[in-house]
Amino acid sequence: MTPATDSTPPSPLLPARLLPRAPEWPRRLLLAALLLGVPVVAALAAGWAATLAEADLRDSAQAQLALYNANLRAELERHAAVPLALAQDAEVKALLANPTPANIDHLNRKLEDIAGALGALALYVMAPSGLTVAASNWDSAASFVGENFSYRPYFRMAIDQGEGHHFALGTTSLVPGYYTAHRVVAENRTLGAVVLKIGFDRLERAWAPGQEKLLVTDRDGVVFITNVPSWRYHALPRRLPISLPVPPEGTSEGLDVLPWAFGGASDRIALEEKGGGTRRYLLASVAMPDGDWTLHSLTSLDPVTARAQVAGLLAAALVALGALAAYAVALRRMALVERLALQEESRAELERRVAAATADLRAAENELTQAAKLAALGQMSAGIAHEINQPLAAMRSFADNAVVLLERGRPDAVRANLGEIAELTDRMAAITRQLKGFARRASGTLGPVSIHAAVGQALALLESKLRREDVTVETDLPDRPVWVVGEDVRLQQVLVNLIGNAADAMRGCPVRRLRIALVAAEGEALLSIADSGAGIAEADLPRLFVPFFTTKEAGEGLGLGLSISHGIVEDFGGSLTAANRNGTPGNGAVFTLRLKTTEQTA
Ligand code: ADP
Repeated sequence: MTPATDSTPPSPLLPARLLPRAPEWPRRLLLAALLLGVPVVAALAAGWAATLAEADLRDSAQAQLALYNANLRAELERHAAVPLALAQDAEVKALLANPTPANIDHLNRKLEDIAGALGALALYVMAPSGLTVAASNWDSAASFVGENFSYRPYFRMAIDQGEGHHFALGTTSLVPGYYTAHRVVAENRTLGAVVLKIGFDRLERAWAPGQEKLLVTDRDGVVFITNVPSWRYHALPRRLPISLPVPPEGTSEGLDVLPWAFGGASDRIALEEKGGGTRRYLLASVAMPDGDWTLHSLTSLDPVTARAQVAGLLAAALVALGALAAYAVALRRMALVERLALQEESRAELERRVAAATADLRAAENELTQAAKLAALGQMSAGIAHEINQPLAAMRSFADNAVVLLERGRPDAVRANLGEIAELTDRMAAITRQLKGFARRASGTLGPVSIHAAVGQALALLESKLRREDVTVETDLPDRPVWVVGEDVRLQQVLVNLIGNAADAMRGCPVRRLRIALVAAEGEALLSIADSGAGIAEADLPRLFVPFFTTKEAGEGLGLGLSISHGIVEDFGGSLTAANRNGTPGNGAVFTLRLKTTEQTA
């Protein structure tokens, strides 16, 4: 037996070509995300964080600068009141009006006490000529007493305008200081001036621990207060990248210039570090209220760099994590898709096998059908031989007679004999034609089949048997032909089986009547074949259609006829059922064929 379909060799349920392949694209995507996405996003995040952090830093630098400014002004104002107050002092006025040694000595000590309490560098009283009359440092080697400072701008300003300020290097002490002078007036007469010189070392010390580098430049752009000692008396670079609130007047020739390098944004300054390398600072400047001085601060940009780095790292980590998560999801999805594909493939494989098995079964069934047909043919051949022998013998005697009649010169009788012979050959041809049709293999395709024709052919095939068994055949078919879905040879085979069985069942019965009736309605045709035999034993009814079930003697029946007929009718989409007439054995059996009706095709 060879399989009818499917040439695929038997394969394991998971063929090699379907084994999971390494998922290439998610790995490539991950690599791309890590190689391209991480640096790009990190750079973007770092840039963004740097911009934000720089804005923050700029704000806080401005706020800080305002604080230092207030601090510096407070320092100056705190001292500015002292010469003003002393200018009103009666003892000072008395001294200037009458500089007796006793007066001088008294005031020297008084000034010394006040300067000591203030922490000022010097406090002294000058005559309108510029001569120093009394001074807090009267007792020291660098005493101002007797010195003439009439050329000093602060003195000139005080005498002319009432108040003068100046920052300068002391000519006697060589110590830089800030001078505040106030005119002493009595009865509209200028008696002289009181001068206070203060240093900024205390302020500078107070500034020193701060984060910022601070410096104060004068109108010429020269640094005179700073918490970076090496910058003192250095000039601002001639060309600054930012415009200062008060531009320097440019009389700082010959002075060293601050070691500032400019890079990047306009307000950034790069400074050489002691240990090598550079550090970047943000420059902020604010002018003092009188416009003479400008306070600058340099705030380190390190926190900005640090924030940018942290943001960059965070963003990189986030992108990497995101990429990994996406990779994991993609892998899961791919695994799922692959699993589904494998399931689908195993299902398809299963279906293929079922189809192959079904085809094998069908082929086996066809073989069986064919075998059964041949068996039936074998059984029939005896009857057929008898059937053919009879006409042959008749034809022989007709022919012999014809010869005699011809000799006797009776051509009419000869013609009649020949006519008989022709009829007999027609009859034999009909028998052999039927047999040929029956032995032919089923084509396998279904189409419209006429029940009338099938019944007629089956009866013709079994004619001799029915005659031999002396069976009366009654047919009750509608006038109009009824077409059903089926195949002529196989339907004919079913009918031959059923009619043959009926004839067998009635053997030896007093009444041998076969009734074939057809009713067609609502898309169905019901064809019943009833006999007047002994019927079917109750116990046999359930196994009637089981292959090889037979009650006939060995050599008479194979027990295949009904099971094959049942299969054929099911193939047609119909059914075959068996019952006893009137429901009990003894009244004969009735077999009912239920078939789908169809239109006759042209
Ligand atoms: P077989 O005719 O070779 O025995 P079948 O499959 O055609 O095989 O029939 C199986 C059995 O069914 C028969 O042996 C018989 O017992 C029973 N049978 C079939 N047709 C009839 C009938 N018309 N009346 C009573 N019994 C029947």
